[in-house]
Amino acid sequence: MPARILAPLVGEPLPLDFVNTRPLRARGVAAPADQFGSVSGLQQWLAMEADRLSYVEITEPLRRSVIELREQTGAALDAVVDSLVPPQPTIDAINAALRGASSHAVLRWSGTGGYLEVIRDADGDGALLGALAEAAAEYLASELCAKTRRCEAPDCDLLFSQTHPRRRWCSSTVCGNRTRVARYYDRHKN
Ligand SMILES: [Zn+2]
Repeated sequence: MPARILAPLVGEPLPLDFVNTRPLRARGVAAPADQFGSVSGLQQWLAMEADRLSYVEITEPLRRSVIELREQTGAALDAVVDSLVPPQPTIDAINAALRGASSHAVLRWSGTGGYLEVIRDADGDGALLGALAEAAAEYLASELCAKTRRCEAPDCDLLFSQTHPRRRWCSSTVCGNRTRVARYYDRHKN
């Protein structure tokens, strides 16, 4: 069978990419290590998300705060996927991170016209936590949030946004193929 996903899945809405770095709560399968299990792992993920998150120097206390915010964001999204109301502590935690990272827009001008750039008032730690919390809050408050699904492969629980009505897997080339191959062998076992 093709290998399960070992590298972090990126390219979903940012809050889903964020939560998908959790170690899989795989059932009976050796789960990959936590991408945020080390400062360098988190730094590597930030580099993969460089088009959506600004570079900040990761420290051990910041790594722990990011993991805490990921737990809360993940619990909120898990609730949504299961058609439940997100627990209040998860909403409180996201709001606390939002409060710690105020931002303001600045009008800039390029050759062809004006555009807004968002400037974060916080230092690096608050800016990263604020950016992640802001993305989570915007997503949870958006219509897109109702399209959040969990991968249907039996040993995968990555989240994805079901922008295509027939999408069932986090990755059709990994979990989709794996599931199809497993079904094929099941059918031809005897
Ligand atoms: Zn999957």
